Amino acid sequence: MKDIKSMRPEELNALMVSLGEKPFRARQLYGWLHQHGAVSYEEMKNLPNSLKEKLKEMPIVSLEQLDVQISKLDGTRKYLFRLADGNVIESVLMRYHHGNSVCISSQAGCRMGCRFCASTLGGLKRNLTASEMLDQVYRIQADTGERVDHVVVMGTGEPLDNYDSLLDFIYILTEEGGLHISQRNLTVSTCGLVPRIHELAEEKLQMTLAISLHAPNDGKRRILMPIANRYSVDELLDACRVYFAKTGRRITFEYSLASGVNDSEEDARELAGKIRDINCHVNLIPVNPVRERSFRRSARSSVANFKIILEKCGINVTIRREMGSDIDGACGQLRRSYLEKTESEKRHEDIFGD
Ligand code: SAH
Repeated sequence: MKDIKSMRPEELNALMVSLGEKPFRARQLYGWLHQHGAVSYEEMKNLPNSLKEKLKEMPIVSLEQLDVQISKLDGTRKYLFRLADGNVIESVLMRYHHGNSVCISSQAGCRMGCRFCASTLGGLKRNLTASEMLDQVYRIQADTGERVDHVVVMGTGEPLDNYDSLLDFIYILTEEGGLHISQRNLTVSTCGLVPRIHELAEEKLQMTLAISLHAPNDGKRRILMPIANRYSVDELLDACRVYFAKTGRRITFEYSLASGVNDSEEDARELAGKIRDINCHVNLIPVNPVRERSFRRSARSSVANFKIILEKCGINVTIRREMGSDIDGACGQLRRSYLEKTESEKRHEDIFGD
């Protein structure tokens, strides 16, 4: 059974009815969990003790903050949270002029194996529940005392590989009785699980779908992303066309530039040719070097050139501004360095027995 904080309003209603309670109790409970970020039933002042007694066997999932690193450059905050089973995940708060944006993880680890990414190095530990995704936002709001305006599902994990929980997360996050974040202020990023993109299109959500494309053709994409062996670039782009047709939402293509791998003028022209008919926006990201990987970031001039070529073809392009570059660099590296530290401590204990 789902934990109580992962339940949608109608599920919470059904639970209250099954406990012999009035449906308005579901609304109260939902407000405590999702608007006030309550972490215990004691806080819920307007619920009768008899109900609290019935609920006490149903724990409220919440995350324990292990660490936060704060950038002196731009106020970016990287959080390390511990889940109830001891797994750790990472989330990031970025402050932009248009508001606060939180980047959340959707899985502990990842099994997609992208060659340039730190999050996948230890493999997938497990999927996160909707409540664990939500609580990253709630805990960060509680820690800063500031409202979160935007959420991007771009942290560790492949959100469409955890599809059902992702959908619960989206509905609860954007629902009126909860934080009520506008769907337009939500972005979900995927490496391109084509059948799931088709399924998601049917939900007709108003969120932004970001596709990690990173290469203009199958040959190059396969070097960077194992998922390219499953789905071709053409199939992926067709799914994007369908997504736009069903939702009217412009697609974002993410393209991480690695020197000498996918950043040539020819790559830019090939890419432009493939996506120029799609209502889209391209986000160029100079690749973040990861210690265990050999990719190097593209030269500034190659990035600028790449951008100009796309723009000449009428494509919208931005270069991703780097945030918090003074704190544990690329995606997944804070979690990674924590895991490395605890593993080496464990090895030390095994050898020296202290
Ligand atoms: N699994 C999802 C979301 C997580 S990754 C996805 O693949 O989209 C978020 C984005 O960061 C993706 O575009 C990913 O390809 C990119 N990324 C991961 N590691 C990176 C690195 N070292 N440098 C630049 N971009 C990276």
